[in-house]
This record gives sequence, C-alpha cells and structure tokens, in this order.
Amino acid sequence: MFVQTAKRKAEYAAAHPEKKLIDLGIGDVSGPLPPAAARALEAACIAQSEPKSFRGYGPESGYDFCKKAIADYYKRSFGAEINPGDIFAGDGAKSAITRLFAAVDCEIVIFSPAYPAYADCALSLGKKIKIIARSAADGFIPLPYGLTNKPRLIVLCSPDNPTGTAIGREIMAEWLAFCKKSGSVIMFDAAYERFCFSPDKARSVYETDGMQDYAVEIGSLSKSACFTGLRAGWTIIPNGVSGGMLKKTYERMLSCGYNGLAYVVQKAAAAALSEEGERESASFAGKILAAAEKLACPLEKCGFTVFGGSYSPYLWVKKPDFIKKADVFDFFLDELGIVVTPGSGFGREWDDSFRLSALGGEEKAEEAAKRIKEYFVRTKL
Ligand code: PLP
Repeated sequence: MFVQTAKRKAEYAAAHPEKKLIDLGIGDVSGPLPPAAARALEAACIAQSEPKSFRGYGPESGYDFCKKAIADYYKRSFGAEINPGDIFAGDGAKSAITRLFAAVDCEIVIFSPAYPAYADCALSLGKKIKIIARSAADGFIPLPYGLTNKPRLIVLCSPDNPTGTAIGREIMAEWLAFCKKSGSVIMFDAAYERFCFSPDKARSVYETDGMQDYAVEIGSLSKSACFTGLRAGWTIIPNGVSGGMLKKTYERMLSCGYNGLAYVVQKAAAAALSEEGERESASFAGKILAAAEKLACPLEKCGFTVFGGSYSPYLWVKKPDFIKKADVFDFFLDELGIVVTPGSGFGREWDDSFRLSALGGEEKAEEAAKRIKEYFVRTKL
C-alpha cells in the first residue's frame, strides 16, 4: 500500500507541476535536532578526532553515561526507578522491536489499526500473531477483555500511531491485572511519549506500579527529539520480567548481532534526555500538537469524525458518507492536492479511515486546513 501511494503521489506531481502538494502522509519529522543534542554531538565528534579522547568499540548495550541519562529521565519524568543494568541503548525502536519479537516464543497480540512494522516484523520472524480490531466506540483504546489466560506478548502503544489516542492510567491497571492472571508480558512502545502532556494518560508503562515485573518498554528519540536521521532509542527489560529469561535472551541476541550505538550519538541522546534537551523538544512537540489541532478543527466542522491529535502527532479520521469516491486517498489528492495515508496501511479492515500526520508542522497544517474549508464551502458537501 505504501509503495502504491508513493507511486500515485509521484504521478500526480508529474501531471500537475503547477499544484503544490501538501504531504500529510509522512511519519517523518521536519527537524531540527534540539540544540543541546547538536552541541553534544559536535563536541563528541571533536573528541573522537583527538588521540587522547578517541573511543573505539563500546559496550553493546550502551555506555554507562547514556544508560544513566535514560534512567535519570525516567526518574524525573515518570517517577520510575529504572536499574541502568536493565537498559539497552540502540539505534531506535524498530530494530529493538524486531529483536524483542525474535526473543519471545509466545503468540504476539497486536491491536489493529497498528504501526505496520509490528505485524511485518513478527511475521518475517515466523512468529504467531493475533490481531485484535480496536473499536471506535472504545475510542480505539486497546482493552484486556476477551483474551484467554495464556501467556502472550501484548503490544501496546501510547500515545499511539496511527490513531493518535493515549491509554488512560486506569486501563493500564487493568492490563497489569491481566498480565498477573495470564503470565503475559507487555511490550510498551513509547515512541511518542513526549507529545503527551496529559497526566492521566500513559507515557511510560512504569508509571503503573507493579509493571516492572510484567513489561518491557521501547523508547525512541526519533519523533520526540527529531532523531529519525541520527537514530537512537532504548529497550528496558527489568530483571523481574519472565524470571529474568527475556533479559538474558535479549542480551545474548544483542551481543551476537550488534556492536552498539555510536559513541557520538549516545552523547547526543544523553543531551536530548537532559532537562535542557527535554525542554527544547517539549516546545517542538507543542508546535506539532498545535498543527494537529489546526487540521482537526476544519475537518470536524465539515462533518468528519476525528480521533487523536491531542496526545500524538496523528489524526485518525473516518471517511464520511458524503465523500462518494471509494478511495479516500484519490479524493484528497485529486480534489485538494493533499496526501493522506489510507487506513488500510495500518490493518486491512480500515479502508474506511485514513491517517493525517501533523509532523510537517503548523504552516503545512494551516494551508491544508484552508484548502479543506474552502473545498467544502464551495461544493456544499
Ligand atoms: N513505534 C511507532 C509506533 C512508530 O510510529 C515508529 C515510527 O514511525 C517507530 C516505533 C519507529 O521508530 P524508530 O525511528 O525509533 O525506529
């Protein structure tokens, strides 16, 4: 689907060179790096150029300074005590998810619509997956109901891609009860946590007391600190999870197949996790949420049902009946010159929905909102 939409976008651009396309399909950030991270990166590069401070191979799971920066961040932001020995620094969430899936031998539960890499990674590793459709009636929140009591790896993402929603603390407590009962483990993907400013929504699984024995967390600086090009993230596997077996297996896989995140990037990551770095990226996240609001308002006024946008950069929108064109991607492209991501990219059954990304920033959002308003006023749809 993603290949198809890229092709249609390129064809449209070639056929209409006079029209300015607005791409709201992108999941990439528009940057720049937080200044604190950029300065740390530069200083680390200079240190690498001096014989006295040069560093070669580092520890596969990350330097102590980087793990400490991650642990300090968890203490400061979530009140969670994380043992630095349970932290594995890496080059982002996607590779960490693949490694974690490879390390488990149980069924993997994915709530649809979902970040497509979950199912792709699991299937490419030959893992058994169970896809559970989320419901608009539950606000697209993944719920621990209707699952039998066998141990599984449950994939949760909050704030979420693609629905833009976030899981409430009370639902996290229900997931904890389910894990205790079933022996299941949660893989909590926190890639968008810095976009969530609401204290009653889950930004880290370890905000819920007791999760240290049942949950692994995947963190990433890609979206929150514009590291999509630089690459940095982490996996936290507390010793208590699966009696220490999961951590052991992950550790072994890491040392077999990975030589560690670049020293200079770990320096930049530590700076992005400092109070200064956090402040800088909070201002970026605030602008993206403002852009999401600018997109959501005209859509709602024009009769679209819109989810998300308040806790993550994405809006999940249901195609209204008044859009007659079967393909919502074609509708937005042909009528408005706007690229959206069809819902079917996040689960086959979601072709009645689409995702809009606000990661391109406020200017793009304003221009798109203007086109949407003008179109629906003009056509009286
Ligand atoms: N998790 C989710 C939910 C995502 O949307 C993405 C990227 O779009 C990732 C993980 C991957 O992040 P990274 O760039 O750290 O590999």
